[in-house]
Amino acid sequence: MGYKIAIDGPAGAGKSTIAKKVAAGLGFIYVDTGAMYRAMALFLIREGTDAKDTAAVSRKCKEADITIRYENGEQVVYLNGENVNGMIRTEQVGQMASLTSPNPDIRKRLVELQQKLAADADVVMDGRDIGTCVLPDAEVKIFLTASSKVRAERRYKELTAKGEKCDIDVIEKDIIERDHQDMTREISPLQAAEDAVFVDSSYMTIDEVAAVILDKAANVQNK
Ligand code: C5P
Repeated sequence: MGYKIAIDGPAGAGKSTIAKKVAAGLGFIYVDTGAMYRAMALFLIREGTDAKDTAAVSRKCKEADITIRYENGEQVVYLNGENVNGMIRTEQVGQMASLTSPNPDIRKRLVELQQKLAADADVVMDGRDIGTCVLPDAEVKIFLTASSKVRAERRYKELTAKGEKCDIDVIEKDIIERDHQDMTREISPLQAAEDAVFVDSSYMTIDEVAAVILDKAANVQNK
């Protein structure tokens, strides 16, 4: 059994940046579970599947083989043998992931994959249901959040840096919509585990947030 750090929280709270930093600091593997839901969403978009057609989503998702490899320390997601890392970071794919991730057949497959990845490894895993459902026995559980305004600003900077045209108000609206979808779904809604440490990163730097988590991890390790 490895040592597990679970980081959950809404879109744009900085989970992946922080999780990567903490994983690098501890020499742990970073597991980005959102990327798996995004790869599944990409598949469904390509297949022209209607997100609202639950039966079709359940049927189609079985045709998507999602696997994870680590190349040069980076998590690479393969969809039916194709590296899709460069295709899953769009708002369209994120929205589709949020709409289809409540599907129990999708969750069952991806949660199994996530638990397998963490089985014998030291991991920092981020997502929405890691502390509550995927790794309920994680040694450290963090619920990382930030105001929707701050999260929209961060996403805006990220997208414009990549040369994508975007509107900050539309981004904030999308974020609020996605939060609502993720928090109100019946299966594994986004919520803090009872034993999670709540961290609001709105006015904290990346290093400050990482330090809080590393400190927490050191305390648990020393017990
Ligand atoms: O974190 P990211 O924005 O990449 O996640 C995309 C979507 O995947 C989320 O909005 C959420 O609906 C879904 N997701 C999930 N459970 C996870 C990780 C992501 O339902 N553990």
